[in-house]
Amino acid sequence: MDDDCPFCRIVAGKKDADIVYADETLVAFKDIHPHAPVHVLIVPRKHIRSVNDLTPADGEIVAAMFAKAPEIAQKMGVARSGYRLAVNVERGAGQVIFHLHLHLLGGWR
Ligand code: AMP
Ligand code: ZN
Repeated sequence: MDDDCPFCRIVAGKKDADIVYADETLVAFKDIHPHAPVHVLIVPRKHIRSVNDLTPADGEIVAAMFAKAPEIAQKMGVARSGYRLAVNVERGAGQVIFHLHLHLLGGWR
């Protein structure tokens, strides 16, 4: 846990978030500045700085992030209509929170 990391603080229950899913590996919560009618962030409990910092030992975590996305999409009502999964890697791509997260976006008409 990195005390300076907002997502570590959410995962640890030290910072409020609108949590839509949680298990032993992941927490998913609504983005505070949504870019779509449904915008959820799927976040591993483990602090991993970015995709560039993944190691082979993180394979199960990355698999879980994708494997749980359909269930979270279903819960948010966008599984059938469709959704986008996106990861920004480093500042040039728009990453501003340096704790790995998968954006789940959907709900457009
Ligand atoms: P990225 O640009 O890929 O690093 O995405 C970071 C996302 O986190 C942005 O879409 C922010 O709106 C969102 N965000 C930042 N702080 C919080 C927070 N405390 N709760 C929920 N979402 C947040
Ligand atoms: Zn963190």
